[in-house]
Amino acid sequence: AAKHQIGICAIEIWKIETEISEFRLVELQRQYFNSGSPTELKHRKKALQTLRKILTSDVDDLLEAIEADLRRQKGISHALEIANAIVEINYYLENLDEWAAPTYVEKTLTSALDTPMIIKESKGVVLLIGPWNYPASMILLPLIPIIAAGNTVIIKPSEVAENTAKVFDRLFTKYFEKRYLAVVQGGVSETTDLLKERYDHIMYTGCTPVAKIIMTAAAKHVTPVTLELGGKCPVVVEDDAPADIAAKRIAWGKWLNCGQTCLAPDYIITTPSMKSKLIVALKAALTEFYGTDIQKSKDYSRIINTRHFDCMCGRVSHQFSPRKTKAPILFKGGEVDRDDLFMPPILLDAHRSDIFMEDEIFGPILPIITVKDLDEAISVIRSGEKPLAAYYFTKNSAKIDKFLNETSSGGVTINDVLMHITVDTLPFGGIGHSGMGRLV
Ligand code: NAD
Repeated sequence: AAKHQIGICAIEIWKIETEISEFRLVELQRQYFNSGSPTELKHRKKALQTLRKILTSDVDDLLEAIEADLRRQKGISHALEIANAIVEINYYLENLDEWAAPTYVEKTLTSALDTPMIIKESKGVVLLIGPWNYPASMILLPLIPIIAAGNTVIIKPSEVAENTAKVFDRLFTKYFEKRYLAVVQGGVSETTDLLKERYDHIMYTGCTPVAKIIMTAAAKHVTPVTLELGGKCPVVVEDDAPADIAAKRIAWGKWLNCGQTCLAPDYIITTPSMKSKLIVALKAALTEFYGTDIQKSKDYSRIINTRHFDCMCGRVSHQFSPRKTKAPILFKGGEVDRDDLFMPPILLDAHRSDIFMEDEIFGPILPIITVKDLDEAISVIRSGEKPLAAYYFTKNSAKIDKFLNETSSGGVTINDVLMHITVDTLPFGGIGHSGMGRLV
């Protein structure tokens, strides 16, 4: 019995120590921040260089982990998640001296003899919470400005992409001190514990319902937040657009990462005559990209886990429930295979009141809604929350102006999808329910 009690005692002590160390992490980082080291320019540059080293010499570990999480080919992941981060690090290293220096502003009449200026200040301890869909870049891209700006950071990667989370933990622990940059692995309960603490900024990427939890926790300490969220990104295709080009671009943006992309087209709005052309062209584009047996294509990713898989299948089968309207399947590029987490591209004949119009789909299902004209398309878009992006295919410049003026979204690409995120000189982010604050 004594032995047994000692055993329990040891476990209890271990548990308490773990809790204390998590609790102390914020304090530890705050003390280090207050020492002034992380804010020194040479320290910030060295941290960026170390990060770049990880992304070059240890990149295979990360790419293998992403492949294990999402069945996404390493080459694709490198292009989508690593290469852009390295470009970003180089960009910061080239410009940091200038950005960190005070900015002298135009004088007013009353300050003609003074030197009005903006002095840049690091914030302090930042909490960075990431999603699973692009598990590396959604940590790396916010991390670069956070450390370049001289902050310390606690990173909470998504537990859903568990392999990537583990590799980040291992690599960052190897190269950085915890008092400067620390990884905390875990899910809802660990994040809930982290959110009890006070930070100087919280950077969160994920879904809107969880963003409300993050904001509520931040409000208790009046902590500023940046929220990178999702939404239902519409694609409007006009009659005058070339169906084959529109379909190829939509198919690429939609089925990249199996539809699990925040900027992916969520639904198409088009006219009845363009709809039939688009269906033919989308099928052709899918065959060109993934072959006739999509499940065998190495370029087609999987649904992240069985929970999301079941949720996605449930949504498709719901279409036959009496509660919801029709939404018949227009095309299905194969059979669902739960053991393989394979869900094929699915086109649905949808109506604006269908279940698919309620929440972000975040999977390979693409509903098509028909409308009579642009006014009706705009009314569909405006009846929902403001999306992260909106896409419009047309040759008509007057209609483009109307679309830009009468819809609101985090970003817009005309005659393509996703591409505005590739323009480094544009800020990126959402508006309303699709996000708050911008990654510069
Ligand atoms: P999620 O909100 O479920 O999870 C994100 C993070 O929040 C994870 O680290 C998770 O552990 C944590 N979390 C989850 N539930 C929590 C809770 N109850 N309390 C505290 N923390 C919690 O999001 P996801 O499923 O990982 O990612 C998909 C969403 O992210 C989609 O909506 C997508 O559009 C969005 N997204 C947006 C961007 C962007 O740049 N705007 C980029 C990628 C993904």
